[in-house]
Amino acid sequence: MRFPLSLSFDLTRYLMKQRLRGEEKFPLVLMLEPTHQCNLACQGCGRIQEYRETLGQALTLEECLQAVEDCGAPVVTVTGGEPLLYPPVFELLQELVHRRKHIYLCTNAILLEKSLPRLPRSDRLTLSLHVDGLAPTHDRLLGRQGLFSLAIGAIKAAKAQGFRICTNTTIYKETEVQEIEILFSYLGHLGVDGLLVSPAFSFAGVDDGLFLSREEINDKFGRLTANGHNFKFFSTPLYLSFLRGERDYECTPWANPTRNPVGWRAPCYQIVDTHYPTFADMMRKTRWEDYGVGRDPRCAQCMMHSGFEPTVVREMRGLTDIWTMLRWNLT
Ligand code: SF4
Repeated sequence: MRFPLSLSFDLTRYLMKQRLRGEEKFPLVLMLEPTHQCNLACQGCGRIQEYRETLGQALTLEECLQAVEDCGAPVVTVTGGEPLLYPPVFELLQELVHRRKHIYLCTNAILLEKSLPRLPRSDRLTLSLHVDGLAPTHDRLLGRQGLFSLAIGAIKAAKAQGFRICTNTTIYKETEVQEIEILFSYLGHLGVDGLLVSPAFSFAGVDDGLFLSREEINDKFGRLTANGHNFKFFSTPLYLSFLRGERDYECTPWANPTRNPVGWRAPCYQIVDTHYPTFADMMRKTRWEDYGVGRDPRCAQCMMHSGFEPTVVREMRGLTDIWTMLRWNLT
């Protein structure tokens, strides 16, 4: 199975509960950014630009747990910045396991290997490592030599200690499909449990030349995901089909709310117009109808997983979609 049974069970139960309550807008994944501090300055990163005035701020452990409580999503992605720089990160992860959340810890891997002994041992925790290409590409995009081999070393050490690992790869305009195919084969060979893949988003303040148009996304993902390779994607087959341009979806920005030291970011993980002090304010006061492709020019090229994967989960179109998702999870 691609995901632990507990995740499928908890997600299904949560979705049914929301439907029975008649909730239309509800979160699926909380993006928790306890700090935006980082030990790198990656080329495609929007956070270090958008939050340069507040990089020194961090949420307290209590604020993190309050956000988890207020949001109620069954999945929590702990990200940043580099979350392993956040001093109470190990207590936070332990608390999330106690609260029976499914956790993705996103990391650039620099501090991962030495952190392994302090991470909770639970099938609810998945380590998600940022890997953007083979060594020359990855090291150039992340701005430091040796980071690819460091990430590979951390993957091997984490797998040897029984952790569940996925990688997260961003596809840029310059990304060579063939290079990513070699990378994915290699990661599969290392025993990585799953591959997350998404087109880059054109964050404000980041070099525009890095990002793909929707047509370019369709073309690159068509070549990467429909070529007969049997890569073990964590990205759902329906989302990949959307990336190939075979089906259309509207985004559901409220499904992946983001809490960071400034507040609850609105409207979504990608674009920011304001921050609200509480989760309830963010859900109630954001004018959701103003956002999405065709409504806000910043959304025009967006096909990001945080905006569209939740739509896939919420909007299964008949038995064929249910069967596609089931078959994918069972392999
Ligand atoms: S389409 Fe716009 S509102 Fe929707 S997720 Fe993308 S950037 Fe956010």
